[in-house]
Amino acid sequence: MTQPLEASAPYAEQMDAADPLASFKNQFHFPQHQGKDSIYFCGNSLGLQAKSVSAAVAQELEDWRNMAVEGYFRARNPWLYYQYNFSKTLSGMMGCSEDEVTVMNTLTVNLHLILQSFYRPGKERFRIIMEAGAFPSDQYALETLVKLHGLDPDNAIIEIKPRPGAKLLETADILETIHTHRDSLALVLMGGINYYTGQFYDLPAITAAAHAAGAYAGYDLAHVAGNIPLRLHEWDVDFAVWCSYKYLNGGPGAAGGLYVHERFGNDASFPRLAGWWGNDESTRFKMEKGFIPRKGAAGWQISTAQVFNMVALKASLEIFDAAGMERLREKSLRLTAYLESLLKQSPLPCEIITPADPQQRGAQLSLFFPENGKAIHAKMMEQGIICDYREPGVIRLAPAPLYCSFTDVYRFYEVLRNF
Ligand SMILES: *Cc1c(COP(=O)(O)O)cnc(C)c1O
Repeated sequence: MTQPLEASAPYAEQMDAADPLASFKNQFHFPQHQGKDSIYFCGNSLGLQAKSVSAAVAQELEDWRNMAVEGYFRARNPWLYYQYNFSKTLSGMMGCSEDEVTVMNTLTVNLHLILQSFYRPGKERFRIIMEAGAFPSDQYALETLVKLHGLDPDNAIIEIKPRPGAKLLETADILETIHTHRDSLALVLMGGINYYTGQFYDLPAITAAAHAAGAYAGYDLAHVAGNIPLRLHEWDVDFAVWCSYKYLNGGPGAAGGLYVHERFGNDASFPRLAGWWGNDESTRFKMEKGFIPRKGAAGWQISTAQVFNMVALKASLEIFDAAGMERLREKSLRLTAYLESLLKQSPLPCEIITPADPQQRGAQLSLFFPENGKAIHAKMMEQGIICDYREPGVIRLAPAPLYCSFTDVYRFYEVLRNF
């Protein structure tokens, strides 16, 4: 970033005028504040509703009303194949083949499900490495999983912590921990981006280290999907799960995503828990004994497609297609850099705990306020700037490039400066 980043409203407006993606903001509904659109920095928690969602939902309601069961084949988007509507866009974002990705259930459910395949502890190999302070749902999932296998979480789960006084993990420490436990390690499971610090981990390096230790590597990409384009296949990642209601704007409780590397997806004997939607389509309705998995991640499908939990995601992914994930990332880097440079221009009462290296973060900056964090958050909300507060002392800001502008970022800075 060599260009000067000025702390002024006209400069921010100029940046917006030159932004080829600026008009995508108009495709979303914003919560209203005193008769005006709020500024929305919570896309890392729940993305906004695309204006095209109402019509998309109405269409499925209409097809259901008019066709009932026939809609499985004859709806404008036949429900029998509804989950394939997402394959192309998601394979592009995740960097994998269309077969390697699917949409179903919700994140934690998918995590439990895929861990039935990838965590089968033996006497020798039973340990899981994860980051300390992982999202609670991931902590609970792993704690209860190892207990289900009759193991003690304190012994079976190794948590990697930041060095004393630090808030972020060092890649070297992650790799070393993996190496240290190489004889007993079954699985490395990390968040792609830590929800609290915004740190984006080095997935290729962690994956390579896990494989060198004879373990699987899987990721919870809740904060990465729709935020940073990935190359999961090339990085040789074994599996990944994510939710669709954060940067992907799929709406509350939207169906989540699953990636499984083709070496498992093409192996019909790879163990799994199955349901009829994962069965080969040509024999699914024969209702016969003997599960024949579909090729790819689809072989982990369980139940009939949750059309109404997928329809908003479909509408949103059409917008991602139009904007382009690489272009969004490029804007995101500039938008977050602008926020960072504003925060560094005058002595502000906070510390940015997210990594300074743009390659180690996505759209989110986490600001740690030793004092007044809660009051500053309340002030933002009062001014129509929606962001969130996480104990202890952190305001998380996610300028999502689809619907946040440079002017939005400047407004936050202005309110903070005048607090
Ligand atoms: C948001 C989030 C979840 C949420 O899981 P659900 O099953 O969709 O409720 C899980 N893990 C991480 C890391 C998250 O950020």
